[in-house]
Amino acid sequence: MVKSPFDTPKEDVNTCPEVADEIKQTTCYMCACRCGLNVYLKDGKVRYLEGNPDHPVNKGVLCAKGSAGIMQHYSPARLSKPLLRVGERGSGEFKEIEWDEALDLATEWLGEARRKDPRRFAFFTGRDQSQSLTGWWAAQYGTPNFAAHGGFCSVNMAAAGLYTIGGSFWEFGEPDWDHTRYFMLFGVAEDHDSNPIKAGLGKLKTLQQAKFVSVNPVKTGYSAIADEWIGLRPGTDGLFVLALVHELLKAEKIDWDFLGRYTNSTWLVIDDPGGAEDGLFVRDSEGAALCWDSASQELLPASDVTAKAAVTGRYRLPDGREAVPSFEILAKRYLDPAYAPEAVAERVGISAQTIKRIAAELAEAAFEKEVVLDVPWTDWAGRRHDKMIGRPVSMHAMRGISAHSNGFHTCRAIHLLQVLLGSIDCPGGFGYKAPFPKLIPPSPLPAGKTVAPERPLPGMPLGFPLGPDDLLVDDEGKPTRLDKAYSWEFPLAAHGLMHMVIHNAWAGDPYPVDVLMMYMANMGWNSSMNVQGTLKYLTDKDPETGDYKIPKIIYSDAYYSEMVPYADLILPDTTYLERWDCISLLDRPISSAHGPGDAIRQPVCKPDRDVRPFQDVLIDLGGRLELPGFAYNDGEPKYPGGYSDYIVNHERSPGIGPLAGWRNADGSGQGTGKPNPDQLQRYIDNGGFWTHKLSPDQLYFKHSNKSYLSYAKTMGWIPTEEPITMQLYSEILQKFRLAARGHGKVQPPDSERERVEKYFDPLPIWYPSLEDAGVDSDDFTLHAITQRPMHMYHSWGSQNAWLRQITARNRLFVHPKTAERFGVADDDWVWVISHHGRVKGQVKLMHGVNPSTVWTWNAIGKRRGAWGLDKDAPESNKGFLLNHIISELLPEREGGHNYSNSDPVTGQAAWYDLRVKLERCLPEEAGVTEPLMEAVKAPPPRGLNDGDRLRYGADLKSTAPAVHGEGSPFKEWIGNRHEISLNVTGVADGKGNVKKPVTGQGAEE
Ligand code: SF4
Repeated sequence: MVKSPFDTPKEDVNTCPEVADEIKQTTCYMCACRCGLNVYLKDGKVRYLEGNPDHPVNKGVLCAKGSAGIMQHYSPARLSKPLLRVGERGSGEFKEIEWDEALDLATEWLGEARRKDPRRFAFFTGRDQSQSLTGWWAAQYGTPNFAAHGGFCSVNMAAAGLYTIGGSFWEFGEPDWDHTRYFMLFGVAEDHDSNPIKAGLGKLKTLQQAKFVSVNPVKTGYSAIADEWIGLRPGTDGLFVLALVHELLKAEKIDWDFLGRYTNSTWLVIDDPGGAEDGLFVRDSEGAALCWDSASQELLPASDVTAKAAVTGRYRLPDGREAVPSFEILAKRYLDPAYAPEAVAERVGISAQTIKRIAAELAEAAFEKEVVLDVPWTDWAGRRHDKMIGRPVSMHAMRGISAHSNGFHTCRAIHLLQVLLGSIDCPGGFGYKAPFPKLIPPSPLPAGKTVAPERPLPGMPLGFPLGPDDLLVDDEGKPTRLDKAYSWEFPLAAHGLMHMVIHNAWAGDPYPVDVLMMYMANMGWNSSMNVQGTLKYLTDKDPETGDYKIPKIIYSDAYYSEMVPYADLILPDTTYLERWDCISLLDRPISSAHGPGDAIRQPVCKPDRDVRPFQDVLIDLGGRLELPGFAYNDGEPKYPGGYSDYIVNHERSPGIGPLAGWRNADGSGQGTGKPNPDQLQRYIDNGGFWTHKLSPDQLYFKHSNKSYLSYAKTMGWIPTEEPITMQLYSEILQKFRLAARGHGKVQPPDSERERVEKYFDPLPIWYPSLEDAGVDSDDFTLHAITQRPMHMYHSWGSQNAWLRQITARNRLFVHPKTAERFGVADDDWVWVISHHGRVKGQVKLMHGVNPSTVWTWNAIGKRRGAWGLDKDAPESNKGFLLNHIISELLPEREGGHNYSNSDPVTGQAAWYDLRVKLERCLPEEAGVTEPLMEAVKAPPPRGLNDGDRLRYGADLKSTAPAVHGEGSPFKEWIGNRHEISLNVTGVADGKGNVKKPVTGQGAEE
């Protein structure tokens, strides 16, 4: 019998223990939000993390993930030394080597490829927050084969926003939480914008002046606290939104002033079917778009503020052709009965009545609850406005929109809805975060048309094409990038297609590579579609030569993930608390709609292992390879001090470097200025960040606000002070369409014409997802999607000793009616079957899910032996991964070609398109997941200080007897990574009772 802790003598508790002897400030990296951290250190070790109350992102709030950063820092899965593969790929057989040998080897491999053809080297990174460095490094090397995680994650959101409104959701914009009266959240479940959205929703709930509507097939996370949950069918959000547009147009509940002033609604579109300029804007000899002035009955520049520009009608041009304002085309399109609520209701899974009511509520919030701020401002044309008048409807969207093959157009549809309501960058609406808004689309173009041995690229590998001429294709129209980004298959692939790199390198399509280098990308597991296929590509050999088809793989990570055993050379990274970093305006800064901001990470403690920050390693390699930008002409490295040296001294263009604050020797420069050797210390002195608060007259209408545009130009964000005109009708998309119709010097191959014609509509369209169209939906009747647990971020979080005590395995969540249809009951084990494969998991019934949808938590399932977890950990034998049954390719089309399972405009991985059916497991199949792959061979977990258990903080305990000291069952829960295999005798329930036995919290959710 275990003695109850409540029977013990009263403990002498020190209520004011000395927690730390030092506090350092840095930036959290437990997710992508970049909150400010106060790190409490004692004897050089991390003791406690708290939110920095002065930090602009989190204002002191630290979420569960952030607090558990300690266990990320002390994770037993940490790599400790460079490794060189000695066994077969996948065997996990490595030998430890010294850094000199590792860097010599990497230099040799990379140098050989660069001398032969820089395209033979592909460099792809995962959730890397230093892409302005990694992208620039690739450009200096001379390879176009670079991208980060965005093609798997969010490119549909970014590209749709940047081609439509000059900004985008999440990192480049935010709701005006203080003034909004109606907030719509599309496809977001504790995803990405974590603390800021939670704080914003907290404000909405506190102020009680706004309705919060969540549109998501699953009622979890944020949706669970929404005032109204719209549980539509996955992938139909675009149809739902366009039905709202239909209703608003029908009722003429649109902001005409906003449309006329800030959008291209009045720009005349040439109507000349079959002509080379059909669908393009009417322009003058200077290239300025023209409108029809109803007063003078003549053409005028659309930017002429004296014009009474027509938004409807049909006009004859001097050359005899006809033209119509783009709004005329738009209105005609969406007033079509095909977009009526009654026409879309069944497909969307939401009643016509509800769609109409939501449209009416949006209109009421926008036009009857307008927010008026007594702040005078001046627009770009010099017109003075006494007040700032806002349409207080705000929106935010993310993964549930993005990860579908129709996501680009769906996101454009959401922006269209915002613009019709006049709710972009106004009080109560969606606000741009600096350095946005930018030109539509932003410069530069993607570089890579010319590639030569030992030469840098003329620009950055990723950019924004303005038309077919900017594609990276050869004379036959075939892709010239390994991932086929910017080809006719994925013309606007602004983040590349990381998810296709391993497949294409294996297939030699469009060409083979010699070296593949990846960073923080768990491609051997949850960052790939078709996991087993990907592992095959990584291990497949040429039958004639016996060499691996992907000859050399370099991988850098801080942890022993599922990817590590499949690389040849491992460069061990530090944790985020052991390195310098910059959260830069050149990349993904910490700005808000109230002004720009950037931040640093500083090493708050020294590594206790032989590891180096990847950014330092990259800069070192750049010097060894004598890449321009990283070495002087005499071969001397430019940044011998590593990343911190680069952060301070690198200038992307004169006066513009990675950090915007305290530039110039005296720290007087903001945004631009000479390098300041004291810059990092100034950041440290200020808590690790820099911000600038916009003046009240700059806060809104930034796309057209004279004072703001002037400021943005001085900061180097925009080239001129011209207004940024929102592109509801996209001439760029139409240019691709014209090429498909046989116009222009760069045209798609015949095999791609139909596809380009179909998906490059200049106005937002909706179409069923490509998997919906390609599989038998009468057989695979269900949609399967994932959601992010609020306490985890990808595989980082689910290996974390504290966080996995909240969730150590995942279930398949099924609506009771759906379960009944498949003869499945709560807790049953089922096969989840797609056209590509089958995976086994255990069911949990829930009502808060669209009945045509099943879902599970993302990236909880792990491969046995990886991440320093016990081979019997619940993550690996009960947790499961949907990625196993998602194909990276669409079914073969005529001619034997398989397109990537991606959005046909941007190349975004379409992993939310998955269609499945369920099959109840036989009794003997229940209990363990499948596929249950062989355990990866990995070195023993690090830092286990009690046999095979991790007891963080054991050394902090008082030696005096304590309530939860030796002999208490509670000790088993202190950072224990092996709880499922424990055989504890019992645990108290808090009332003095003891239950037994306990087999793990995760096992009994
Ligand atoms: S939301 Fe949480 S995990 Fe993400 S950066 Fe902020 S504190 Fe860290």
